[in-house]
Amino acid sequence: MAELQIKNLHVDVETNDGPKNILKGVDLTIRSGETHAIMGPNGSGKSTLAYAIAGHPKYVVTDGQILLDGEDVLEMSVDERARAGMFLAMQYPVEVPGVTVANFLRTAKTAVDGEAPALRTWTKDVREAMERLRMDGEFATRNVNEGFSGGEKKRHEILQMELLRPKIAVLDETDSGLDVDALRIVSEGVNRLKDSSDVGIMLITHYTRILRYIHPDFVHVFVNGRVAEEGGPELAERLEEEGYDRFLSGARA
Ligand code: ADP
Ligand code: MG
Ligand code: MG
Repeated sequence: MAELQIKNLHVDVETNDGPKNILKGVDLTIRSGETHAIMGPNGSGKSTLAYAIAGHPKYVVTDGQILLDGEDVLEMSVDERARAGMFLAMQYPVEVPGVTVANFLRTAKTAVDGEAPALRTWTKDVREAMERLRMDGEFATRNVNEGFSGGEKKRHEILQMELLRPKIAVLDETDSGLDVDALRIVSEGVNRLKDSSDVGIMLITHYTRILRYIHPDFVHVFVNGRVAEEGGPELAERLEEEGYDRFLSGARA
């Protein structure tokens, strides 16, 4: 069992004009086996939450806590977060010049497990995971994120997640820029991990589309740096019909 607890989280982002407060007291708990959808309009602070969990230096926690099984995540380095079983797609650099996908995956797996994976089974695991994601074998020889299309970046993200087998995964806008076929393949990857492990997932999305493929147990609506409403899957259906208007007019009033 793993449990990620976010308590009264306040986060500022560093801007050229100084710190700007974005998160204004977020409470959220994600346990093994649960899928939580974080939804909300653009600019509501969803990515800020992901960056704060990932430990991005521009996002400064000014109050509150992030705990993984009671351990203070904010005290951990980015590597320590990964070793503790957290998968944070955005922790990885946008481009890694001169590092192939194959080497990158092996290095990441070694870092997370604390020992290098056995070569024979590892090569097979990578090849099979790539086949499941309908990725060409040639992809493994390319440099990480160099010239990747939006869809390739997302598949690479899911490939990493399938191979690293995290306890808690944070996926920010995994659906953006995917056509329907790619969305289905990527969603199948997430669902395979859900079925074959006890992963807890934080699925951040603006649109309800991906939730037709990956079914959340809980839905949290973010507005203006706070959780404005929480519920079960039915809340996502309501949002699909009604959009975010009622939250936004409430926030302006
Ligand atoms: P979401 O992911 O929900 O669209 P974000 O967390 O990206 O929201 O952004 C929340 C708010 O913080 C927005 O108003 C955005 O303009 C601001 N913000 C986020 N990152 C930065 C940054 N690096 N510099 C300035 N403002 C930022
Ligand atoms: Mg965002
Ligand atoms: Mg499961």
